[in-house]
Amino acid sequence: MRPPLCFVCGLSPHDLPGDRGSSGFTLVHFALDVQERAAQEARDRDGWVGHPVNAEWFCGAHADTARAHADLHWRKALSVLAAHGDA
Ligand SMILES: [Zn+2]
Repeated sequence: MRPPLCFVCGLSPHDLPGDRGSSGFTLVHFALDVQERAAQEARDRDGWVGHPVNAEWFCGAHADTARAHADLHWRKALSVLAAHGDA
């Protein structure tokens, strides 16, 4: 699992004052296609502990937007959210 770093704006807990730390960050999981889901389930059975391809961190300002796209395939969702960050 990667440390928190907002996918949209690049904010990390180090950028926040005081001890708010990672509590202000949300890990959002997006949809996988059938093949990806099968591969992930196989890795899970093997005890794999890496960072899921379909999960990204979002800061408090972007978590709601990210969750609103959570039912999209992760590739599509992340391209939409990346464009959102440029706006
Ligand atoms: Zn953000």
